[in-house]
Amino acid sequence: MPEYQNEPFLPFALPDITEAEVEAVAETVRSGWLTTGPNAAAFEKEMAAFLEGDDELQCIAVNSATAGLHLAVEALGVGPGDEVLVPAWTFTSTAEVVRYMGARPVLVDVDPVTLNIDFADAERRVSEKTVAIMPVHFAGLPVDGHALADFASRHRLKVIEDAAHAFPVRSAGAYVGNSSSDAVVFSFYATKTITTGEGGMVMVKDADLAARMRTMRLHGISRDVFNRYQSKTPSWRYEVVAPGFKYNLPDTAAAVGRVQLSRAVEMRDKRRSIAQRYTRALADLPIELPQWHEEPEAHAWHLFVTRIDDDGAGMHRDQFIERMSEQGIGTSVHFIPLHLHPYWNEYCAEGQEELPVATAQFERTVSLPAFSSMTDEQVERVIAAVRTVLS
Ligand SMILES: *Cc1c(COP(=O)(O)O)cnc(C)c1O
Repeated sequence: MPEYQNEPFLPFALPDITEAEVEAVAETVRSGWLTTGPNAAAFEKEMAAFLEGDDELQCIAVNSATAGLHLAVEALGVGPGDEVLVPAWTFTSTAEVVRYMGARPVLVDVDPVTLNIDFADAERRVSEKTVAIMPVHFAGLPVDGHALADFASRHRLKVIEDAAHAFPVRSAGAYVGNSSSDAVVFSFYATKTITTGEGGMVMVKDADLAARMRTMRLHGISRDVFNRYQSKTPSWRYEVVAPGFKYNLPDTAAAVGRVQLSRAVEMRDKRRSIAQRYTRALADLPIELPQWHEEPEAHAWHLFVTRIDDDGAGMHRDQFIERMSEQGIGTSVHFIPLHLHPYWNEYCAEGQEELPVATAQFERTVSLPAFSSMTDEQVERVIAAVRTVLS
């Protein structure tokens, strides 16, 4: 067990890294191929196979989910004058990439139970300028795929799924990442369900969109480094066809990702068992627990999001967080809704009072540690701390 697992304070999140990941990095460094190369290419292929994709499904490895979301809105031609529907309940990345393109994110309220985008509210905010919707599968619970497809087709919208929390999880039988959406983006940030330290993956089925994203991923060069050194064209020859970005995933990171991918189901099942343990052990306390899902593949359990009320718990969420910290347990809040941040508040000036669910839920929300490398003893410590704080 790594030393950081034994610190007296239990942080909200820690990675789940074994000797296999350590070995994979060492091997990659020894190979001399550090940047995007054979490991990144293999990671993309293995992800497509994992998602049970047919020949159409392409996986494009990038150095963050934010980069992947940016590539997606760029390839789809989102631009000035356009509006994109984004849930208020998300990380800033989802909306910031829309601003990168000079377009306007329109914040949408969320369902009070799932905290996923509320399609009824989206219906009220859609306009002639709306070109796309970017749903977030919050905490690892997929948005309703039928409602999404129906909404998008009625309003002729492009769909970019922010699936930063949603790997691996199925929706209506298919893995998130293998849907009819224009693009789906995973995050492999240090605390996500699988990690490469920093990294992400874009799933796309349209060949032209995929080609554009691959080009823009690396400076607008029409072939990536790996192909450049593999093809018969002289290695020094390349063409810049657009002012692209520097969004490629290095092989050192991809090597970690390949091992993590092979452990993804095992790690999800571990998170699920932690969620189940909390669900049983905290049921009698004045704390609202997330809905339990019996079907093992229905929830990725990236986050275990609870709610605390002044009435029931006798304290505000902020005080609960402080007391948990005194008990040696780290917690977090997902998310501070976008409209409560200065930039987005100013940007969508009228937004705040019109997002009543997100505004109200923010005051109550707190996430408990539920990462796959937690020991049983650590899970018990969290339960004991919640009991002590709330009784
Ligand atoms: C973590 C996260 C992102 C950003 O992921 P990066 O890989 O760090 O860019 C985007 N959206 C959501 C909902 C996230 O939680």
